[in-house]
Amino acid sequence: MSFTIAIDGPAGAGKSTVARLAAKKLQFIYVDTGAMYRAIALGLLRGSTDIEDAQALAGALSQIEVSIRYLDGAQHVYLNGEDVSGLIRTEQVSDMTSRSSAKPEVRAKLTSLQRDLAARENVLMDGRDIGTMILPNADLKIFLTASVATRAQRRFLELTEKGESCSLEEIAGDIAERDYRDEHREIAPLRQAEDAVLLDTSDMTIEEVVERILILARERM
Ligand code: C5P
Repeated sequence: MSFTIAIDGPAGAGKSTVARLAAKKLQFIYVDTGAMYRAIALGLLRGSTDIEDAQALAGALSQIEVSIRYLDGAQHVYLNGEDVSGLIRTEQVSDMTSRSSAKPEVRAKLTSLQRDLAARENVLMDGRDIGTMILPNADLKIFLTASVATRAQRRFLELTEKGESCSLEEIAGDIAERDYRDEHREIAPLRQAEDAVLLDTSDMTIEEVVERILILARERM
């Protein structure tokens, strides 16, 4: 039997950074489900798909195949066989991802892929609905959050370090908008599972968060 850890939370709470580090320490496979939704969104953008047109969306999705592979321990995501890992972190893709992931047809496409991975291996999977929908029986569930101000500040630093010019206010606005959409969609909304441990990382370092996750995991293994 595999051991499964579900980490959910809003954008910018630091999920992927701490999840990657914790998975490495535990020698678990890290599954970044956001990357899968992002790959679908990239496919929809490339096809200029009107996602509000159900028929157009169904047609486009039938032409989109998403898969993941691990190279040197890092997850790579493929769109119809093309490694798109480096193309899915733009603001345009983020926005399309948040809109398209609210569509049941889009979510249905990824559910079995995610469950199959967790059935085969010890995984640490992060996303929005892992503890509530994908792995309701996960051995450990964590809901990772941080204030909008903290998350905006982190994103601002990340972008300015990359040399991109941006405004802190705009970033905070985008984050609040994405939170709202993720929390209020009809299907698989972002929410804390009843049996999830809440970790507010606003005043925690990455190392502290990782350490906390390792302690929680080891208690249950
Ligand atoms: O985690 P990340 O920021 O890459 O996720 C991008 C978007 O994908 C989220 O804003 C959310 O709309 C969607 N998502 C989701 N369910 C997941 C993972 C991501 O709806 N399990």
